Amino acid sequence: MRIDLHTHSTASDGTDSPAELVRKAADAGLDVVAITDHDTTAGWAEAEAARPAELTLIRGMEMSCVGRGVNGYPVSVHLLAYLFDPADRGFAAERERLRAERVDRLRAMAEQMAADGLPIDPDAVLAAAGPAAGRPHLARALVEAGVVPSVNAAFTDLLASDGPYYVEKADTALRRAVTMIAEAGGVSVLAHGRARSRGRLLDLQDVRDLVSHGLGGLEVDHPDHSAQDRATLRDLAGECGLLMTGSSDYHGDNKTIVLGECTTEPAQFEKLVGRATGVPVLAS
Ligand code: AMP
Ligand code: FE
Ligand code: FE
Ligand code: ZN
Repeated sequence: MRIDLHTHSTASDGTDSPAELVRKAADAGLDVVAITDHDTTAGWAEAEAARPAELTLIRGMEMSCVGRGVNGYPVSVHLLAYLFDPADRGFAAERERLRAERVDRLRAMAEQMAADGLPIDPDAVLAAAGPAAGRPHLARALVEAGVVPSVNAAFTDLLASDGPYYVEKADTALRRAVTMIAEAGGVSVLAHGRARSRGRLLDLQDVRDLVSHGLGGLEVDHPDHSAQDRATLRDLAGECGLLMTGSSDYHGDNKTIVLGECTTEPAQFEKLVGRATGVPVLAS
């Protein structure tokens, strides 16, 4: 069994449509894939309709949250949410708020670039990005305009969180997000919790507190985690009785990661599925 529980489509900042994503997942020899676009379930229906019979599809999302670092400063945290009920009113309203934040913030970044004379058309960037607009959309526009050689180069300079054009967005408080996902019948998993290149890290002491609010698991194996990071998270998961997942965080051509680059153990996957009550697993 090859299980990849973290992938992105064009419904957020991946480059494969949801239909292409499920086909490529099957072609890559995956038995299970989760579609986890940022702050949206917009790719679910297309992925479901295009799902090859031999592929099991997990409907999920990656939620933009804010937690605290060891020094108490706010840190950006991504929380994977699996198999939740998309009709849960409070949770649906929060996703909509997050997408509005994404659009407003990306527009502000693009407008500042245009004001500084960079060849960026904010309207065109926003139109191409769609409702779950993210920095990778702006990165691609910068590449296409010849401003930077690659998406990665855009992230190391112009788009970096300490870079000249970065604009904050108001993400969901982590504990509240964990509670909302649990109330919608979903299972929450802390995404890439030790991925340093993305900025400051969450204080892992706070993970213990999240467990009592319903946190389901930790993403242990991730391309951005070192062996030491994985050991730290594995120990913490063991101590707290949390699930452990492994996933690629595939974004199509926006990253060099391939589907199935990291995978989840079947026993962990079965436990995750057993805890969810929002929507069923799609398998034939
Ligand atoms: P945002 O959500 O708009 O703040 O943008 C963050 C997104 O950019 C995340 O989904 C990451 O997957 C993606 N990202 C971060 N660093 C890079 C990079 N170096 N190359 C490509 N994508 C990146
Ligand atoms: Fe992303
Ligand atoms: Fe993420
Ligand atoms: Zn992701």
